[in-house]
Amino acid sequence: MDTEQVEDVRLVVYRAFASDGAPPSRVDLARRTGLAPTEVDEALRRLHEHRDLVLGPDGQIVMAHPFSAVPLGFSVMGRRTLWWGGCAWDSFAIPHLLPEEDEVLVATRCPGCGAPHAVVVRRDAPPESDLVAHFLTPVDRVWDDVVRACGNQRIFCAETCVTNWLERTRSDRGCVMDLPQLWRLARGWYAGRLDRGYQRREPSAAAEYFHEVGLRGPFWGLPRA
Ligand SMILES: [Zn+2]
Ligand SMILES: [Zn+2]
Repeated sequence: MDTEQVEDVRLVVYRAFASDGAPPSRVDLARRTGLAPTEVDEALRRLHEHRDLVLGPDGQIVMAHPFSAVPLGFSVMGRRTLWWGGCAWDSFAIPHLLPEEDEVLVATRCPGCGAPHAVVVRRDAPPESDLVAHFLTPVDRVWDDVVRACGNQRIFCAETCVTNWLERTRSDRGCVMDLPQLWRLARGWYAGRLDRGYQRREPSAAAEYFHEVGLRGPFWGLPRA
């Protein structure tokens, strides 16, 4: 199996998530790539090892960022498609990645108090909102358990709800940002991911991108000032 065949499988997975909101089945993957089922499995394993997607314990496709096959606290409604939004970062990235979706409705609940929140996320301008995002896991530890890290990148009513949630879950504060900052982070992060030959960006090696979008401090692998 060559790298082009692995790339074929990657593209079918991403494009199926983009159009259907869900990953393709193994049968679909074999049919659309012309590969044998064992080759599909081998390609998925390689993509998982390379962090181009995340397989669960039974080999099922769990995530292909920014898409998720499992609920992590967000839904994203487009014109014709409904996605599990992955985390706050992933949900905000979807309109930037899909040319035909210039705005989506992101829905979630505050982990602090349970209040429901819905935000229209557009491609052309950041949302106006008083809500805040809190990310628990510093970027250099995201891939220790990427599903857990994503599941803890959430949107809260305000700082007070973040503080209450951190106390209740006995967690250390990560990074709090406003929604325009979250939008700037999400805007270019996944650029090119639906195209052939995409090279993914490792969060721990993306200091320049984080700096450019306005983030600072050791949480992002950057100096404070
Ligand atoms: Zn709240
Ligand atoms: Zn995520």
